[in-house]
Amino acid sequence: MSKYDVIIIGGGPGGYVAAIKAAQLGAKVAVIEREKLGGICLNWGCIPTKSLLISAKHYKNVLRSQDFGIVGINKDNVSVEWESMLSRKDSVVNKLVSGITMLFKKNNVELFSGDAKIINKNRVEVNGQILEGSNLIIATGATNNFPDIPGLKEALANGRALDSKAALQLEEIPKELIIIGNNTYAIEFATLFNAIGSKVTLIHNAEQIIPYGEPEMVKSLERQLKKDGIKILSKTTVKAFTQEGVIVESKSEKVYTADKYIVFLGMKANIEGFEHLNLRVNSKGFIETNDRMESNITGIYAIGDVNGKHPLAHVASAEGIVAVENIMGVESKLNYNLIPQVVYSFPEMASVGLSEEQANEKGHNFKVSKFPLSANGMAIAEEETVGFVKIISDNQYGEIIGVHILGSDAGNMISKAVAIMQLEGTVYDLAKTIHPHPTFSEALVEAAYGAIGKYIHI
Ligand SMILES: Cc1cc2nc3c(=O)[nH]c(=O)nc-3n(C[C@H](O)[C@H](O)[C@H](O)COP(=O)(O)OP(=O)(O)OC[C@H]3O[C@@H](n4cnc5c(N)ncnc54)[C@H](O)[C@@H]3O)c2cc1C
Repeated sequence: MSKYDVIIIGGGPGGYVAAIKAAQLGAKVAVIEREKLGGICLNWGCIPTKSLLISAKHYKNVLRSQDFGIVGINKDNVSVEWESMLSRKDSVVNKLVSGITMLFKKNNVELFSGDAKIINKNRVEVNGQILEGSNLIIATGATNNFPDIPGLKEALANGRALDSKAALQLEEIPKELIIIGNNTYAIEFATLFNAIGSKVTLIHNAEQIIPYGEPEMVKSLERQLKKDGIKILSKTTVKAFTQEGVIVESKSEKVYTADKYIVFLGMKANIEGFEHLNLRVNSKGFIETNDRMESNITGIYAIGDVNGKHPLAHVASAEGIVAVENIMGVESKLNYNLIPQVVYSFPEMASVGLSEEQANEKGHNFKVSKFPLSANGMAIAEEETVGFVKIISDNQYGEIIGVHILGSDAGNMISKAVAIMQLEGTVYDLAKTIHPHPTFSEALVEAAYGAIGKYIHI
C-alpha cells in the first residue's frame, strides 16, 4: 500500500496548489482527480470565460478603431468567428492544464486519475488501489444545484436551457439569449454574448445585479451594461420554462423568448459518497471548517468551493496553502476580510474590504473618497473613462478599510489595494506611493489624496 503525508482529492485550483505547496514543504503527496486537472476554473470557469471575453474585447476595439485614428476597416466585413474563439480558448486551457502536469512532475506530486472513494480518514481508494495518508484534503468543488422550476429540467435536457459549461460548447452564437441569475458569471456571460452580437436579456430576482456588490459601483455598471444594449430585468422571478419561453413574475406575469437560456441558480458541494465520514456540514450542505481549514474530523481538511466560504479560485488556492501549512506544522490562517472580488464585465468591477454600509454596521468612523476615471490620463488615452475608484478609510489613523473600483483595469488595480491593506496601510501611505504615469492606477493615489485633503487633478 502506498503511503502519503497528504492525500488530496480534487485537482482544481484548491487541490493542485495545495499539492505543490505541500510538496515544497517536504510532504509526500498524492492527488486524485476524476476528470481534468485544473478543475472548473481552468477548464470551464475562470480561464475559458476570460479567453472568450478577451476575444470579445478585441472585436469591440476593432469596431471602434476609427476613434483611434485607424482607417480602412470596413465594419460590415468584420465579424466574430465563434468556432475560432472556442479553439483559441481551448488552446489557452490546454497550455495551462499541461503546465500543472509539469509542475506536479517537478515537485514529485503523484497524480492518480480516477474517482476517489474515501474509506476512512486515512484511506482512500482509487481504481481499486488503496492509498494511505496521514492527512486528507477534500478539494472536490461544487456542482450546479438548480431549483425545481417547472420546465427547467426539460429545457436543460432539450438544450434550450444551458449551464455555464454547456454555454462554452454552444455551436453558434445565439441570436437572442436570456441569462438568469445574479452572480458575477451571469454578468460575464451577458457581457460576452452582448459584445459579440447576441441580443441579451438578464433576468434576476434581486434589487441589484450583484447583490453583494458596492451599490454605487453596481448601479454605474448596470447603467453601462444597459447603455451597451443589455436588457436587465431586476426583481423578476422566473416561474417556469415553457415551449413559448420563460415565464417571469415581477409586477405582472410575462413571457420572454430567446433561442437559449443560460442558468446560474444555486450550487451544492461535491460530497456525495463521503456521508459515512460524518463530516459536519452547514445548512447549505457545504463542509464546515475552522480557520485552519480543518473539518470536525482531525486530519481531514476541506478547501475551495466544497466548503462554500467564498467560491472563488484564488480563495481555493489560498485555503489550500493554509491547509498544508497547518498540516506541515506552520501555523496559518486566512484573512477573509481581504479577499478581492472581480467581475470581468466591460468595464470591470473589483472590490476588497468593507463597503460604506458595512463600515457603518461595524461602527467605523470613516471617510469616503472617490476619484473618477474621466480625470485619469491613461483612461482618457484609452477612451475607457467609465468608472471610478472609491476608498473607504478609517478616520483614526487613515487606515484603508475598503476599496471599490469600476474601470477597464479594475481587476489589476485592486491587487494594489489588497497589498496595501494586507500591510494595514493608510491613505497617507498610498498617497505617498509613487505610481508610474500614465496608468489607471494613479486614480488610486488620487483617491488617497482626496481622503487626506484635496485631489490633485480635480
Ligand atoms: C463560468 C465560471 C467562471 C468563473 N470565473 C472565475 C474567476 O474569474 N475567478 C475566480 O476566482 N473564480 C471563478 N470561478 C469559480 C472557480 O472556478 C471556482 O471557485 C474554483 O474552480 C474552485 O476550485 P476548487 O479547487 O475548490 O474546485 P474545482 O475547480 O471544482 O475542482 C474540483 C475538482 O475535484 C474533482 N473531483 C470531485 N470529486 C472527485 C472525486 N470523488 N474524485 C476525484 N476527483 C474529484 C473534480 O473533477 C474537479 O476537477 C468561475 C466559475 C465559473 C463556473
